[in-house]
Amino acid sequence: MNHCLSSTDDCPSIEALDRLNIAALIYRCGERITLEGANHSARTLLNHFAPLEEEEPWQWYPDGDDGHPAHYWHLDHVSAGQGQTPRVRWLRFNGCGRRMALGLTGCRLKDDNEARRVLVVLQDCTQQILQHEELRRSQACISSIINATPMGICVLTEDGRFEMVNPAYCRFHGYEEHELIGRPFSMVVPYSSHQYLLRQQYGAQGRHHGHIQHFGECALVARNGERHTVIVESVRIEGEDGRPRDVVFLVDISERKKLEMALEEKNVRLEYLATHDELTGIRNRRFGISSLEAALEQAERQSMDISVALLDIDHFKRVNDDYGHTVGDQVLQQFAEVLSRQLRASDILVRWGGEEFMLILPGIDLAGALQALERLRHTLALEYLSPRGLQVTFSAGIVNGRGLKSNALVEMVDQKLYQAKGRGRDRIVS
Ligand code: GH3
Ligand code: MG
Ligand code: MG
Repeated sequence: MNHCLSSTDDCPSIEALDRLNIAALIYRCGERITLEGANHSARTLLNHFAPLEEEEPWQWYPDGDDGHPAHYWHLDHVSAGQGQTPRVRWLRFNGCGRRMALGLTGCRLKDDNEARRVLVVLQDCTQQILQHEELRRSQACISSIINATPMGICVLTEDGRFEMVNPAYCRFHGYEEHELIGRPFSMVVPYSSHQYLLRQQYGAQGRHHGHIQHFGECALVARNGERHTVIVESVRIEGEDGRPRDVVFLVDISERKKLEMALEEKNVRLEYLATHDELTGIRNRRFGISSLEAALEQAERQSMDISVALLDIDHFKRVNDDYGHTVGDQVLQQFAEVLSRQLRASDILVRWGGEEFMLILPGIDLAGALQALERLRHTLALEYLSPRGLQVTFSAGIVNGRGLKSNALVEMVDQKLYQAKGRGRDRIVS
């Protein structure tokens, strides 16, 4: 068989196409379709895979599909039009696993009695097809990630309208995708976050491709009133039309926020319990001891007076015995309240234990402390405590703590208190 068609008036030389690096085949389509010729480019292209068998020219083409490719251009309805889209066929050759995607374009050349000739141009488009498939796969993969991610993602146009929203974004706000696309972003932003929009708008000029903006924590109120705390970040990108877009990312931290707040509340509570007396709400002994030490050190450093008093409610046992423990508790609570009301901000009232209270008076000398304690005694004399309207008195010792260590001071003040009790109670010994 003659592989090389000679150039005739009505038939281009397929060798001429070689000069353009165009692989071409010529078929004669009669009862059978037979290969009349293949130019060098076509042979090179196809022989990469298997020897070109002239007797069975399309034998390397798998069965089925549309039949012989030349047949397509042989048909009457196919015009030899320009701008044909290549018909792509995958070739898998006998004996080797390689595949080639062949882009085929062709045209009918000439009627020759009952036979027609068809020119088929071949193009190896394996790379393009594989790249296209790869792109399609990675796009599908990206879409499934975007659709499945718990992070809310939206793309905004320059004028702040939704161009794309993912399912998580829709869920956060309680909208369907079609309700958001094309609508202004402000529709889902609570008034309190309008600052965001302003920054977005005015910051726009200075923002370049890839610029990331961190908006930190924002409150988000969904359509159904549900509140979320989200972290918002956005990145400026260039859209396909060359115009800027903002891709906004929302991460829901509501659960974490709730846990943080619960933990914070717990810590505050623990801190309170560690330093306060549960019954009266005033400072407890542990806090009192450290405050006393700190106050003594400060007084020493600044050569200041500091007075410390130890108060004990007189005959408190009788309250419990006569009215019960609950009334006793109420008396203790109100006793602490009455004293607290009379004190300056710098004074520290401590429940030392039971019905004993310590009063630390920084900057106050003994005379001043005595005066303050007398005032407390008189105030208390006017108070009726608990629903039973009970009246109580206290005895107290006072010491000037200047130059003393806390242990020595506590011992001294305890002795003074003991003296006050011994001298008949309801009195202050300094
Ligand atoms: P004194 O004048 O000598 O101090 O007599 P008192 O009865 O006040 O002293 P005593 O030490 O004999 O009794 C103190 C009582 O205080 C006994 C105890 O049950 C009571 N008490 C201590 N802590 C609490 C408390 O938290 N609640 C109640 N209701 N009573 C308490
Ligand atoms: Mg006591
Ligand atoms: Mg007592």
